[in-house]
Amino acid sequence: MAKGTFRFYEELNDFLPRHLKKVDIETETIGKRSIKETIKGFGVPPSTVDLVLVNGQPVDFDYIFKHGDRVSVYPVFEKLNIRNVSLLRKLPLRRVRFIADVDLHEMVQLMRMLGFDTTFNVNYRVPDIVETSGKENRIILTKQKDLLKSDSVTHAVQVCSGPATKQVCHLMDDLDIEDRVNPFSRCIRCNTRLEHLQTNAILDRISPETDRIFEKYLHCRSCRKDDRQNRSRQLEVDIIRLYV
Ligand SMILES: [Zn+2]
Repeated sequence: MAKGTFRFYEELNDFLPRHLKKVDIETETIGKRSIKETIKGFGVPPSTVDLVLVNGQPVDFDYIFKHGDRVSVYPVFEKLNIRNVSLLRKLPLRRVRFIADVDLHEMVQLMRMLGFDTTFNVNYRVPDIVETSGKENRIILTKQKDLLKSDSVTHAVQVCSGPATKQVCHLMDDLDIEDRVNPFSRCIRCNTRLEHLQTNAILDRISPETDRIFEKYLHCRSCRKDDRQNRSRQLEVDIIRLYV
């Protein structure tokens, strides 16, 4: 028999009976039970769980619950209360994705440059943004207060006014996500992950001068297709200088 405690965070409490919400739950298991089985036993669907910490260390679902374990279970996407964003600071790293309102184009480019998955479509209306946010678990970035108040929005951040650099700095600070910056990993134009290219694969498309200056090459598979179809004479790769 193994005795320990479970604690479920944020939306995961919605699956629990009232007396188990937001408290340490003394737990006993008989025989070998995985974390996944134990979580299911509480009525919490594993698909809604993003991260499990046992005694502060991340584990996978197959981990066997042991005597004395203290288990913290985090949801895929926690509710983000704009008035109390400090909640996020207590949480460990996890995937953070965004969808930006139509007037934040410059901010979107900076976010992508920093490696953040940020969806943007200038043709999106508010319902499109809200729907995509819900389906893909994306935090809405917007300057519209009305959008933040909408009942159907659960994850949104109000972006400050001013230049895009300031907006991004504020967001980094509010959400405490500086550690997740991964520069030049994502296409600034379309948000697709960039791939490394071997220099000899593109020598016929770059000048000797470019070859001399740039150390590494990345390209976007998605944009490359468009270029081939529409602008075949133009450079087919996105070239980004990586300082070594
Ligand atoms: Zn692209």
